[in-house]
Amino acid sequence: MGWRERSTHQRMSAHEYITHSADETIALGRELAATLKGVCMVILRGDLGAGKTTLVKGIAEGLQAASQEDVTSPTFTLIHEYRGPEVNLYHVDLYRIETERELATLGLDELFAEDGSLVLLEWGEKFPRLAKERDVEIAIERWGEMERKITLDAKSSLLAKTP
Ligand code: ADP
Ligand code: MG
Repeated sequence: MGWRERSTHQRMSAHEYITHSADETIALGRELAATLKGVCMVILRGDLGAGKTTLVKGIAEGLQAASQEDVTSPTFTLIHEYRGPEVNLYHVDLYRIETERELATLGLDELFAEDGSLVLLEWGEKFPRLAKERDVEIAIERWGEMERKITLDAKSSLLAKTP
């Protein structure tokens, strides 16, 4: 059974979705996980409380790397790692990182270079190099208390594989 049956978030176009609850965003993340296998760097864009970390819960579950309860915000620890059978998921929060120098201390390039790694970056768009090199950008916008518009931006060959 696909996500269309399991939940009520609607597809607006090839790469825009509306969700009406955190659970729906998690369900969408689970479905997007298949698309993100083989991708190296994803920027998750959106204000505080938009739902970036919530989406990661679903992606981690879809990759069988962690259960949603185990995925928490890496606000202070900066990088969380979840190992799945096929993908090593790295969840990074750059909210508190201000300078290129601080960024360099995180060693993200090693993570990008690792075989089978998928790096999900919250606030990655703050750094032009990351914004330029990202394979996928997922933007989450608040449309109401519970509504979120989630937009996937990637090359069309990848979008063709999205649910
Ligand atoms: P961010 O990582 O973008 O700062 P979080 O995922 O930590 O945001 O928090 C999102 C908050 O919004 C959570 O408390 C979540 O329960 C709530 N929420 C309400 N509706 C939604 C929705 N449709 N999608 C995602 N989160 C939602
Ligand atoms: Mg977050």
